[in-house]
Amino acid sequence: MKKVFCIGELLIDFVAEKQGSDLSKANTFTKKAGGAPANVACAISKLGGKGIFIGAVGDDPFGSFLVQVIKKEGVDISLVQVSETFTTLAFVSLAEDGERDFVFSRGADKELEYNPNHRKEFQGNLLHLGAATALLGGSLEKAYGKYLFDGLTKDMFISFDPNFRSDLWKENEQKFIKKCMPFVEKSHLCKFSLEEAQLLSGKEDLDEACDYLHEVGTKIITVTLGKDGTLVSIGDTRRIVPSIPVKPVDTTGAGDAFIGCLLKQIADMGNFQNILADFETLTSMVAVANRAGAITTKNYGAIPSLPTKVQLES
Ligand code: ATP
Repeated sequence: MKKVFCIGELLIDFVAEKQGSDLSKANTFTKKAGGAPANVACAISKLGGKGIFIGAVGDDPFGSFLVQVIKKEGVDISLVQVSETFTTLAFVSLAEDGERDFVFSRGADKELEYNPNHRKEFQGNLLHLGAATALLGGSLEKAYGKYLFDGLTKDMFISFDPNFRSDLWKENEQKFIKKCMPFVEKSHLCKFSLEEAQLLSGKEDLDEACDYLHEVGTKIITVTLGKDGTLVSIGDTRRIVPSIPVKPVDTTGAGDAFIGCLLKQIADMGNFQNILADFETLTSMVAVANRAGAITTKNYGAIPSLPTKVQLES
């Protein structure tokens, strides 16, 4: 079984308990572990895979809390860096008009330092990069680029999720696109939402969007479409793999469960490069990953809702 190194942010989400007003009126918040790449590492480990998280937290109680949460799910935390800067915090509330009100206090996660010693450990394994905050600059952005380059120069499988958040990139979409494209170019697998595929390609039509994104470089495209399934594409071979019908209560983390489950299956293959040309095996893996996504929507919160191997199989 190959390892999956998940690189990016791990942060505290303070979610306003009383929804329907903006942050200026919110008085009480619930503390939750957040950060898509960390969720993906948890998804892999809960399924019995080898999820390893690389990111930075502060030397403070929030940082210890976060590390404990992912460790409890079986994630290897040996490469987590502890920075002198405070742990990154996000405050979020759903305002009356349905818009998310969002304050982001970016700390340790931008301090992740590139470590050339990781190069050896990456070799022969999978690397998953998530980009929601990473592309906001700081040393993390540089580390990402170097990790990507290292991955490419070695025997690696690279997966990329742009994790576009309109709250973070308001009025800066062109910058986001520019920063994401080198990753799309160099990744073996990209996981997009419909919005991301359209935004990054500049094409409304999903087929045209996939054509463009393949032309740029990525070999495998998955576009998660919520209850409408997942589009899988290798070259010009495409199919929508249907979702599992469920009554969702909270879709947070479904995308991370999906990509975590897909990567776990690819990691289990003897030679993961084979998947690049095996559309039928890929679609059957996506069907299992859709199941992981659907299960995650049935409970509140991301990490607690990710399925275990037993839940996925039952
Ligand atoms: P995120 O906001 O976590 O990044 P996403 O937009 O990338 O999520 P979604 O499309 O919401 O991802 O969900 C990922 C996968 O989970 C879907 O492809 C689907 O298989 C499953 N899923 C999500 N929502 C539902 C639903 N309502 N019913 C059934 N399956 C769902």
